[in-house]
Amino acid sequence: MLPFFISTPPDMAKIQDAIERTIQPELIEQAREIVDRSERFVICTHMSPDGDAVGSALATANYLRNKGKQATVVFNDTPGSNLNFIPGSRSETVYDNQRDGTIDTHDKALQAIREADCFILTDMGTPARMGDMQKEVMANGAPKIVIDHHLDPDRSAFDVVMANPEAAAACELVYTFILQMGDDALIDKQIATQLYCGLMTDTGQFVFSSSRPQVYMIVARLLQEGFDKEKLHRDLMLEPERRTRLKGYVLQQKVQIVPEYKAAYFSLNKAELKRFNHQKGDSEGFVNMPLDIYGIQVSGYFREEKNFVKVSLRSKGEFPVNLVAQKFYNGGGHLNAAGGEFFGTLQQAELLFVKAMQLFANYLEK
Ligand code: 5GP
Ligand code: MN
Repeated sequence: MLPFFISTPPDMAKIQDAIERTIQPELIEQAREIVDRSERFVICTHMSPDGDAVGSALATANYLRNKGKQATVVFNDTPGSNLNFIPGSRSETVYDNQRDGTIDTHDKALQAIREADCFILTDMGTPARMGDMQKEVMANGAPKIVIDHHLDPDRSAFDVVMANPEAAAACELVYTFILQMGDDALIDKQIATQLYCGLMTDTGQFVFSSSRPQVYMIVARLLQEGFDKEKLHRDLMLEPERRTRLKGYVLQQKVQIVPEYKAAYFSLNKAELKRFNHQKGDSEGFVNMPLDIYGIQVSGYFREEKNFVKVSLRSKGEFPVNLVAQKFYNGGGHLNAAGGEFFGTLQQAELLFVKAMQLFANYLEK
């Protein structure tokens, strides 16, 4: 029985049951055996970490610390400044000194990875998603436990893979992991806040991927720790002026509509990014904006990076942007939110998008 209802009406009991069965019990037992005998944990997540990646990694580390273990979160690269409001996100170790970190945190990251006797990897299911740090992490033969909500994790690469693509966020699974480990009582205000941040961001503030009642039961549980939910939502929406200006520019001048395929896309080249002093995370979420236009079901955003084009795709309904990302952009993701890296020009990436729309047009709703 979950600890958050004193007496439970029958329907609620069913939902509680579903929560307790989110992760298969055999996997929990395998994970328990590893966690119990390990002391020095490193928690990693995917490169360019989003709110769910940051929240799930930080909460997992704090949970392990509350259990009396040593735990270090190692990010491949620094989370965007838009995520600064997530408590603890600034104090963690960053692997990639080339891009964002300092030499000092790189060395600390390396040391932690090399000395770890257990890894927990959240919000990712394949080694490549870790980015550059994957080679160091995979070179350490210590057991690796995955907590993820993506389709098709690479089960052969890790020791225990607790993956459920129905989960709204990796943070939902981190919560159920803690609960199923019998450790709900170890959840404190900071962990609850971090888990809430992941749920809030991965569901677009509880709009998508959140129609299952379990999500709200978990939120009800987390709120018992007494964090300021309203402030988190306000902080999430705050942005620097340069982002507001860039948003206006994109909407007014850049969004292209392809009416025959109910699609919209836009790109930003290096010169434009420079003009608006674009910082990491500044255009996070922009790809969702064209979906607010009547009739638009698919949206694509192409951003020129140093050696490749970063691709972000979003859709409504049954249109599988993960398949588009896989087939055309060396990527993957979820049915309605996917991305990848394209090695070519912005223009080629955009042309491919239109071609992909033609190829996948049968998935569009009439
Ligand atoms: P975003 O557009 O926010 O960068 O990514 C949306 C989702 O697409 C992510 O949660 C992730 O599942 C997936 N994704 C983004 N970039 C990549 C990539 O380069 N490779 C793969 N496999 N998935 C990606
Ligand atoms: Mn996620």
